[in-house]
Amino acid sequence: MQRRGFIKGLGAGSLAVGSLAGGIGSARAKAEHKWKMVTTWPKNFPGLGTGANNLASLIGEMSGGRIEIRVFGAGELVPAFEIFDAVSRGTAEIGHGSAYYWKGKSEAAQFFSTVPFGLTAQEMNGWIYHGGGLELWTELYAKFGLVPAPAGNTGVQMGGWFNKEINSVEDLKGLKMRIPGLGGEVLARAGGTPVNLPGGELFTALQNRTIDATEWVGPYNDLAFGLYKAAKYYYYPGWHEPGTILEAMVNKQVYDALPADLQSIVMNACKVVNQDMLAEYTARNPVALQTLITKHNVELRRFPDDVILKLRALSDEVVAEIAQKDDFSSKVYSSYKKFLSQSKEWSGTTELTYLRARDQA
Ligand code: CA
Repeated sequence: MQRRGFIKGLGAGSLAVGSLAGGIGSARAKAEHKWKMVTTWPKNFPGLGTGANNLASLIGEMSGGRIEIRVFGAGELVPAFEIFDAVSRGTAEIGHGSAYYWKGKSEAAQFFSTVPFGLTAQEMNGWIYHGGGLELWTELYAKFGLVPAPAGNTGVQMGGWFNKEINSVEDLKGLKMRIPGLGGEVLARAGGTPVNLPGGELFTALQNRTIDATEWVGPYNDLAFGLYKAAKYYYYPGWHEPGTILEAMVNKQVYDALPADLQSIVMNACKVVNQDMLAEYTARNPVALQTLITKHNVELRRFPDDVILKLRALSDEVVAEIAQKDDFSSKVYSSYKKFLSQSKEWSGTTELTYLRARDQA
């Protein structure tokens, strides 16, 4: 809060991130690049917003102060869902969001965020870094004057907050739910009405019954928004978001003009934050879930098997249809599908078998 007050007290564009981060010391070089980072998250929001802050601080530290980044929360410089355009046109040099928000720009973008019943966080990193994913993502964003990098992952999310029980596929009919990306399309085919809202608007929409249900992220984030005060049932698993990547996007002209060492610093800082955020969620989610259950009397529910099976079948349809949209989407789909198929076999042999064995008393 102190930091926030400090930011407010200063004129725009005059701020050094080193002083924000608590002082890097007199050895800091004078900033050669002063950047603005726009984000889709409320300022300082746990995990997502703080992950963006960490990325900004880390780039500042690793570059010895040569790059200074001032972070803006959703709506501070531009609205949440306008950050893609803002970085593309150079209003801000860097952004932090998630690629499925940009499906209006390209359907294929959704593969670089998450896909219903798709890759887990660990598998996503495999595809992105070593399976051809990042090359495809880079090719796509270059068309918009952007350079992308994974910069965070939530792990498997939760199914969401509901005020009525979901006991059968019928219960999804007419359900107005905030659920972005492909998960929303799947819900539509199951008879529901998906809506997309930025995180900061979820609580009010749910409380006012503008929506019947919402998903957000997982216990750590959902607790922070107080969603338990506006809905009774907390469903799992997050079939629609099995390992969502948060992205950094840098204006391509700005990035290309950087010397090679600073380019490496930006990309490697993203890599550090990508892993660190997943570690943070892994540590915080179980604790937050216990708080929700024991302190706030939240009723935890698992989606019935027949609901999951139906959603799974619809997801396969929806995801396969993206491949028909255009040649590039088809290329991304093929790459993703191939990786998913080999991951299923490997993860089934190792992770799944191991987790089942560990669960047995
Ligand atoms: Ca979500």
